Amino acid sequence: MSEFGTFFLPGPTEVRREVLEAMMAPMLPHRGAVFEALFARIQHGLRPVFRTTRPVYVSSSSATGLMEAAIRCATPGPILSMVNGAFSERFANIAQACGRETRVIGGDWHQAVPLEVVERALREQHFAAITVVHSETSTGTLTSLPDLAALAHRYDTAVLVDSVTGLGGVPVETDAWELDFVLTGSQKALALPPGLAFGVASERYIAQAGQATARGLYFDLVEFEEFVHKNQTPSTPAISLLYATAVQGDHIARETIEGRWARHAEMARMTQAWVRTLRDETGHPFCVYAPEGARSTTVTAVALPPVLSGDDIVKGVAKRGFVIGSGYGKLKRSTVRIGHMGDHTPDRLALCLDATTDAIRELLK
Ligand SMILES: *Cc1c(COP(=O)(O)O)cnc(C)c1O
Repeated sequence: MSEFGTFFLPGPTEVRREVLEAMMAPMLPHRGAVFEALFARIQHGLRPVFRTTRPVYVSSSSATGLMEAAIRCATPGPILSMVNGAFSERFANIAQACGRETRVIGGDWHQAVPLEVVERALREQHFAAITVVHSETSTGTLTSLPDLAALAHRYDTAVLVDSVTGLGGVPVETDAWELDFVLTGSQKALALPPGLAFGVASERYIAQAGQATARGLYFDLVEFEEFVHKNQTPSTPAISLLYATAVQGDHIARETIEGRWARHAEMARMTQAWVRTLRDETGHPFCVYAPEGARSTTVTAVALPPVLSGDDIVKGVAKRGFVIGSGYGKLKRSTVRIGHMGDHTPDRLALCLDATTDAIRELLK
């Protein structure tokens, strides 16, 4: 445990000692057989996490880097951005910042963007790609992907998925759902330190990426694709983080990805039940912010009664040895967020929830 306490933030998440220690290994040249073996081991670990037979790109950047790559490498044309929280809004902002004509749909933070709304937009105009945030970390809302992907493909539109707090905790079937680009960051449900991003492109998406005119260089996925088949990266990778990723990949393989999904589902159920108990026992209207049936299994935003402020709760929980997240963006005061993701267990989560109950009771006194 660090001086901050145990992390139940929706990123960065708690990193196991074994993973931290892996980063003590000495440097190695990134052009050579030893590196290629390390990279191959990482591929072996991550492909089952993405449920893909495609290679996994490894970017030495935070997840935002691959969000930008996804946009830059989409075929020319406007981008349709599904927005239902702060991170999906950010995906739209990135599209705009990359000079793409961007149309935003949705806007309601209380729900996933309905498919009818997506279809209406697709009927009106052709879009090169849709951006969607799978697990909206600001609200804890989950957007279902399989029907969305099928719909988008009927209109010849690529689906670019930010599954930063999804992948590794929430089921993602990159190949079966025919997702065109799926990305995540190291510091969320994969329980690695921050600094790496991972992405998988469909064959179709990457075959067409060469047509994109402003791909830039650092985030040019055409280059990533070329190098990944040699078990290399285009530029010098964060080698220490790759050591950590190799160790964590082996760990996830032992647990199995299905086991990981089940553990996260259990932690989400526990957290939702805890919110109900809190409401019943205090008589205050605590509730889960995300609508039933569309809740992420990795993060829960808890809507607070007006008499409480998110920041005060976070401080009270910190005194008890746990780090939970305050609300994000416009929900800063009115929610707190519990990141029940990564390598946490239901037993450990129970301790964090107990500490949060204590902190809340003290504030309500
Ligand atoms: C954390 C997060 C990001 C941003 O990740 P960085 O690693 O900070 O770039 C993007 N999208 C979602 C859904 C996130 O939770």
